Amino acid sequence: MAKTVEKKLLEACHKAAEHSDMIWVCGGASNVGLIAHEAGILLTNGGNGRMCCTAAIGAGSVVHAEIALKAKRNIVINGCGNRCASKILERVGARIDYEVIVSNYIQKLPTLDISEDEVKKIAAKIVEDLKSKT
Ligand code: SF4
Repeated sequence: MAKTVEKKLLEACHKAAEHSDMIWVCGGASNVGLIAHEAGILLTNGGNGRMCCTAAIGAGSVVHAEIALKAKRNIVINGCGNRCASKILERVGARIDYEVIVSNYIQKLPTLDISEDEVKKIAAKIVEDLKSKT
């Protein structure tokens, strides 16, 4: 029988937005898009904000757009200079308080192989940058 692993449950995005930084990632299909996604998870699980569904805003979800509009701060992690996650937020008029482009620090490659070190490097940079913004 499979072992039951206790899952860490997160506060609902609409509630978290009232007092937390909301994290939006592009989640693109390249190394840098995946690093953006994994960095969002690392930051969320480390208590540095709450990752929310960027694709839902892109798909026209009013509920998700409202989360971005009322967020304490919007932290956006884009894989590359196309800035897809930032553009999705901009289209609904959401304020972007901080954004990072992963490919400025890690070369964009057509691969889905990423390393834990690369994810940690981006997450650590974001935490450091945000310290100087508070
Ligand atoms: S920002 Fe770059 S990596 Fe991310 S979804 Fe857009 S094109 Fe893909």
